[in-house]
This record gives sequence, C-alpha cells and structure tokens, in this order.
Amino acid sequence: MKERKRSEEIYCSSLNLMPGGVNSPVRSFSGLSITPLIAARGKDDLIWDVDDREYIDFCGSWGSLILGHGPEAIVKAAQAQMALGASFGIATEGEERLAKKIISHMPSIEKIRFVSSGTEATMSALRLARGFTGKSLLVKFEGNYHGHSDSLLVKAGSGVAHMNSLASSKGIPEEIIKNTLSLPYNDIIGVSKILQSRSDLAAVIIEPIAGNMGVVPASSEFLEMLRQVTLDQGALLIFDEVISGFRVGLQGVQGIQGIKPDLTCLGKIIGGGFPAAAFGGRKEIMDHLAPLGEVYQAGTLSGNPVAMSAGLATLVALEEKGFYDKLEIKTAQFLAPIEEALRGKGCVQRVGSMFTLFLGPSKVESWKDLEKLDKERFKSFFLYLFERGIYIPPSPYESWFISIAHKRDHLEKAQKTILDFFEKNPMQKMA
Ligand SMILES: *Cc1c(COP(=O)(O)O)cnc(C)c1O
Repeated sequence: MKERKRSEEIYCSSLNLMPGGVNSPVRSFSGLSITPLIAARGKDDLIWDVDDREYIDFCGSWGSLILGHGPEAIVKAAQAQMALGASFGIATEGEERLAKKIISHMPSIEKIRFVSSGTEATMSALRLARGFTGKSLLVKFEGNYHGHSDSLLVKAGSGVAHMNSLASSKGIPEEIIKNTLSLPYNDIIGVSKILQSRSDLAAVIIEPIAGNMGVVPASSEFLEMLRQVTLDQGALLIFDEVISGFRVGLQGVQGIQGIKPDLTCLGKIIGGGFPAAAFGGRKEIMDHLAPLGEVYQAGTLSGNPVAMSAGLATLVALEEKGFYDKLEIKTAQFLAPIEEALRGKGCVQRVGSMFTLFLGPSKVESWKDLEKLDKERFKSFFLYLFERGIYIPPSPYESWFISIAHKRDHLEKAQKTILDFFEKNPMQKMA
C-alpha cells in the first residue's frame, strides 16, 4: 500500500484547528495509534483516501449508505434538487413526498417531523414525551446510544463506550442525570420491577436492535414487557430506529417484532447520505408539537430539500422487490466461514446486513457481556485489515454494514483477509 503522507499532513494540520483533529470523536481512531482515515472519494463499496489508498468499506457512513457510495439514482436526485435550490426555510413538496413514503412503511408512524440529525430526533421525541405525559423520568438502557443530547448521554454506547471516564459526559447537570435512569438491556425481571415502581415515568427509549455496543438485538419478550409496562404506567415507548430503520427491512424492527412504539426515531438511511432524520408516531401525540401544540421544536434546515430528494430516491430503491433478500444472502455468505472460525473464541451477531464480530465473548446480550471483549486483539485485527485495504468501524463497540453495492470479489477478499488474520493469530478458546 502507498504511504500515508498526505493523510498525515492533513491530520497534523487538523489537530491544530479542531479538537482531536475531527468533528466527531470516533473519527479520530483513538486507541488505535494510527493517523485516522482521511477520505477523498467513494464509489459503491470502496473508499479512497487522500493518498489514493483504496479500502473496501464496511462502515458505510455508520450505516447510512445502504446503497453504497454515490449510487446513480441518489446523485441524480440530489443534483436535480441542487439546481432548483438547496434550501428555502419554507415548506417544500419533497417533505410531503418523503413523509408519505415513510408513513406508508413504518407501522407506528401516523405523523412525522423531519430534523437534521439523529440527536435532534431523539432529543425532540423525548421532549415531546415529557410534554405529552407531563412527567419527567426517562429510562434508557446501558450501551444504547441515542445521540449526544444531555439526557441521553448517560451510560451510552458508540464513541462514549470506550472512554471509561465518560460513563456519562462532563457538562451534564446533576438535575438532568437525576431524571435519567440507565438500566441493563434485556433484563426483563429487573427492568420491569423498576418501571412498575416509577409513577413519574415519562418515557422508555430503546434501540430495539442495539447497534452502538456492537449488534445486540433486544429479545421479543423484553420489548413486549416494555410495551406493556409503559402502557400500564401512562408512559411512552420510544423506539430509536436511527440505525435499524430501513436497514433490517422497510418496516423496521417494529414491523419484524409486531410491536408498535408510541414514537419512533429515524435517521441515517432516510437521508441517503445527507443530514436528515425524523421522529414520528401517533397523531394524538405528534399534534402536541408546535405549531399545533405547546411542545416547541424547529429547525432552519429541517426537511432540507436536497436531503429529502436523496432520502426519497433511497427509499424507492429499497422498495425494489427482493432488495432485502439480496442483502441478507450477501451478508450471510460473507459471514458463514467467519462465524465458524470464531466459534469458541468470540461470536458474530447479526440482523440482516448489520453485524459485529465480537472478539472474546461467546454471546452478547447486554453491556456487561462486553467485559469479555479483547480490545488489544481488536486493535491488531483492525490494523491488519486496514493495512490490507479493508475498512471496518474503528472500535469494537460498533456495527459493521454491508450495502447492496458490495461486490462479490470484494467480499471474498475481505473474508479471506479476516480468516487469514485468525489463522495467523490463533486465539485461546475462551471459557
Ligand atoms: C447514529 C445514532 C444516533 C445519532 O444520530 P446523529 O445523526 O449522529 O446525531 C441516534 N441513535 C442511534 C441508534 C444512532 O445509531
């Protein structure tokens, strides 16, 4: 592989300009002791960095790019809208069209509001839940990540996961932490007991497939319990489907599980690579938002026309018959021998085209199972792949993604490289 001269120059300069040289912490490759990837361009399943090194991409902008980089339909849709106007700060037809499309698919969404990031979606959904119920307690789950708003950053996953000192971030007032309870994921008995005892419960928010402590699905029984107890308590159940929405199917986890949350948060895929996210739910709840109701929420760039057109073009592509089956087969074939090689030394957890290779634990159901993660080994694994042109998320706590643009020969190359690593670096079997 070529040297990383330009990458190093840009990174060195960035370090003086931006904290950690980045605009989002995981991009800094912290803990990996190398210059982070500085992307120049992408096409389909490949990324090239500023030194023209080529990588097969298993991160896909953290799951946003289910069609891969630069799909023609999206490029065309976005360019056409750019020519008409990038932003108006006025209502546009694109919002109406994408809203209709999402509502037609997501079982629990009757009305929707667009925002610009997943963080805004969850933050606003939470405010709405509190405004609607008149109560304040929020329950979330350890290792789930819902963006970086104050209330939701208590014991979160994703970039916060490997900063032990940031079990919750500094700068969050005590009063806010007091109103957030972070409970163990998938712990049916323990969680139901606590929820039943809290009459001040406004909302429970959950990633119904956790994707920010690696891929960890919630059990059906756990989700059913949450649905029942929130109903009993007059609290709202919020599904954060920012990753899982349109990733695991057109109806999200709620469609697969047949469980209707009160509110749903979406992001990533629905913007087709542009900044768009949304939250939605039952009309009677959503109509509490301004201008109809007294819960305020707004955004200069909300429902941005370019993002709406890219999002719509994406969802149209996902509606193509057999889309998710194709993705399922691609991913299953890629992983089969890897699962075999990892047996007894770790595990692969997967739902559709999102998955994680856990090095160490033989099964991960909650945050505490991640104590068994072999982080040193992940580091050598990441570096081995990186040097051979395979880019996986730069942390053991993240999901990998396969897009419809992943080519067979690239998947075979990646598969072989991963198996080679395991062969050259044999692991002790874990107990
Ligand atoms: C990415 C993510 C968010 C935050 O979205 P941003 O657009 O990064 O603010 C929220 N929830 C989940 C489940 C996510 O994966």
